[in-house]
Amino acid sequence: MWKILIPKKIAYGENAAKEFDYPENALIITTTESKIYEKWIEYMGIKNYHIYDKVTPDPAIETIETIKKEFDGKNVSCYIGLGGGSSLDVCKYLSKMTGVPKILIPTTFGTGAEMTTYAVISFDHKKRLLQDEAFLADAAVIDPYFLPGTPFNIMRNSACDAAAQASEGYDSKLGNPLTKLFCKEAFDILEDAIINDKPELLPYGAMLSGIGFGNSSTTLGHALSYVFSNEGVPHGYSLSSCTTVAHKFNNSTYYERFKKISQKLKFEPLKLNQSLDAAADVIMPDRGHLDNNPKEVTKQDIIECLDEIVNSNPLA
Ligand SMILES: [Zn+2]
Repeated sequence: MWKILIPKKIAYGENAAKEFDYPENALIITTTESKIYEKWIEYMGIKNYHIYDKVTPDPAIETIETIKKEFDGKNVSCYIGLGGGSSLDVCKYLSKMTGVPKILIPTTFGTGAEMTTYAVISFDHKKRLLQDEAFLADAAVIDPYFLPGTPFNIMRNSACDAAAQASEGYDSKLGNPLTKLFCKEAFDILEDAIINDKPELLPYGAMLSGIGFGNSSTTLGHALSYVFSNEGVPHGYSLSSCTTVAHKFNNSTYYERFKKISQKLKFEPLKLNQSLDAAADVIMPDRGHLDNNPKEVTKQDIIECLDEIVNSNPLA
């Protein structure tokens, strides 16, 4: 038996965010500044709304509790998450707490968070990956309108994340014929977008990647990447080397193709401040990723992967 969970409603394409019917008295939750989101909201034609614009990257549970208190008794009809992964994650958690429905609208295209039952929230300054069916969007709206103007660095990190998620998701032990269908199609589209300079394809590829990996899992590449994220390397950036080396370890059919994508996006090799042994001790308890890896992974394997990441250039 296998099952797939996707948002109740998915609106995709040019003008999707403009033509979508938004209820009145919604609370818009965003990570951006007013001069940007005011333009977005005007495009979307949302009327009579509340706004919370103080969400920061790596959102903490305290932020969510603040929003809940601030808008208690204001009869909010729904939450609209508008922005990067952080604002969508805040909406997901808040909606689970209050039961208020949520519309998720990504403005950077990579995590596929609008499609998944995952949310990353910090508790006591530690990021936790949570999964709950209640995190699933009531509606997801994907509109390439938000793409132009995205800085190259954000764009390439997001694209690399989407490609890593699609290919790790394809190989995941939790995969099934339907997740493989989504992951395979996602990777083909993302590869075409990156290698042949067609950024307009990224939103669609990231969306399919979200459905695919969101219903299977990411694996060794993501497990390795978190020790680099903990030292401040952006998520997508750390995946360029980590997922390449993980695909090589797993004999993945995506090894060469993923490496080419990372080369095209001009990622540099990674450095690690802590010892490989200490880093392996941080990675080993990450069973959520390691147990779903197609091949069994020992601590020694992790040390060897990390060694290859930092002491040779896996992208050369
Ligand atoms: Zn990721």
